[in-house]
Amino acid sequence: MPLEFLKRKNTPDASAAPTPASPSRGASITLPEEVIAQEYQLKLYYAGKSSEGVRMKTGPNAMSELPSMLHGLARSEIEVVEPLPIEFSQATPVISRPSEAMQWLNAHHVHSPVTRHALVVLESIDAIDLAFDTFVCALLDGEVDTSGYPEYSSVVGGVASHWDESTGDMIVRAVVGWGGKGVRGDTDRIGSRLLSGILTNVLANQYALGLTAIERPVPAAGRGGLVCAHCGFASAHERAFYCPKCGMRLLRG
Ligand SMILES: [Zn+2]
Repeated sequence: MPLEFLKRKNTPDASAAPTPASPSRGASITLPEEVIAQEYQLKLYYAGKSSEGVRMKTGPNAMSELPSMLHGLARSEIEVVEPLPIEFSQATPVISRPSEAMQWLNAHHVHSPVTRHALVVLESIDAIDLAFDTFVCALLDGEVDTSGYPEYSSVVGGVASHWDESTGDMIVRAVVGWGGKGVRGDTDRIGSRLLSGILTNVLANQYALGLTAIERPVPAAGRGGLVCAHCGFASAHERAFYCPKCGMRLLRG
């Protein structure tokens, strides 16, 4: 009789369950002096680090060099996330904003759980912006759960590159991030070590010209930018001089 205990609620003569006072009988309901509240809380902690930029000699092979900068550090498959075209300019990983969330899912559902986790963390803390960044990503430290998603103390990331608006050079920086429903004391130190390891790899690349200050491009506020005559990429970045995807000069009408 597994449901036997449920029947007790309906027993009319249960002396342990007095009928509640009804307002129609004249008894007034007074507010208790102190409300007893059940507390609910979720603390999400996202963090990340981004290095100085490294100016790269641009050439036809510049973009294809990016994944090699994670060699020796990546602990999962290395994935490349290209800048998002204008139809995804509102994409945001916030599920309570369905239109923005749908754009984000349409843009990123093809990626691995590691990359999607990295994008949620690094976009939420504004460490990368896919209006102009190309992001090359892998798991760098820690474990994934049975569904393949990194644990909160796992470090993810890699390199992000964009095209310098004044010179058209490719600027590459190291970016790492971590976080979720928890925080562990040594993750920050591991993140710093990985950031320095990636930056070392970037500087060791044959096309590297040296460290440079990063001036991030300013994304479009409204109408959107130009269509690249070389690769057809429609940029949401109206002030871009160089195509965020292929790096060729954008022609203005
Ligand atoms: Zn292009």
